[in-house]
Amino acid sequence: MNYQQILDDIYTEIQPYLSKGKVADYIPALAEIPKEQFAMTITLADGRVFSVGESKKCFSIQSISKVFTFTLALNIYSKELYKRIGVEPSGNPFNSLVQLEYERGIPRNPFINAGAIVVTDSLISHYGDEYKALEVIMNFVREISGNEELSFDSIVANSEMEHGDRNRALGHLMKSFSNLDNDVIDTVMTYFKHCAITMNTEELSRAMLFLAFAGTDPISKKTFITPRQAKRINAVMLTCGHYDASGEFAFHVGLPGKSGVGGGIVATIPGKMSIAVWSPGLNKYGNSLAGTIALETFATKTGLSIF
Ligand code: GLU
Repeated sequence: MNYQQILDDIYTEIQPYLSKGKVADYIPALAEIPKEQFAMTITLADGRVFSVGESKKCFSIQSISKVFTFTLALNIYSKELYKRIGVEPSGNPFNSLVQLEYERGIPRNPFINAGAIVVTDSLISHYGDEYKALEVIMNFVREISGNEELSFDSIVANSEMEHGDRNRALGHLMKSFSNLDNDVIDTVMTYFKHCAITMNTEELSRAMLFLAFAGTDPISKKTFITPRQAKRINAVMLTCGHYDASGEFAFHVGLPGKSGVGGGIVATIPGKMSIAVWSPGLNKYGNSLAGTIALETFATKTGLSIF
């Protein structure tokens, strides 16, 4: 298959959609990003990489980081983790408080904010403090992406902290149900920092490769999780990776994926490749508008999906 040609065609077809969508503005530092930008990268098992657009331009990965922290926590706690978070789609916006109240502080899944905050809390408990936990998260993402220099944007993290009342509220509510062990502010700040990691689509696509290949990176041959855990993470991406538009994404794209409000989306085609796409304009669910269309087009043109 001529993947470069397919990506080039997608790039042409996607142009009219770049001006549509709305950049996330509830994090002021993200509101300043020009929305008419697009990048897409696929990485194959043999190390071949195909890209189009601004694939070397770094952006805020935001909720995509939840895949990496969930991977780390699952590796440490295994099934025990599910005592504190579920694996059901929420059918609610990513930062909803309502469900959390009537489900007694147990978040529906690790990819809504409440669930990711619990995951971060579990890492802080395991590693002893928030600095060590953040260092482990950063080193893990550096290792899987192949970029040792990778870092987070403290301007974005602080901007989110300044406007993070809702996430702090989620933390306090869970603490009131004894589902948060560490200090709410420290935990939420660590969560904001890992959301503020900046990566480009080449790095992100590379970082997702181990999840497309049952937990073992086919290029470095390093195993990060068991095939069973990789299956679970892919399943949760498929059912919960796009907030309350997860059903729609599964329906139209048919791939496990995870989006972030920075406009990035990652996806896996198990046994074949990993994909990352970026375009900052979001649809009404907070998922990249052009990015979602690009993935749908890719699935259609290649005939690749998990179904
Ligand atoms: N850091 C963002 C928040 O907590 C992540 C949201 C997202 O990417 O969907 O609001």
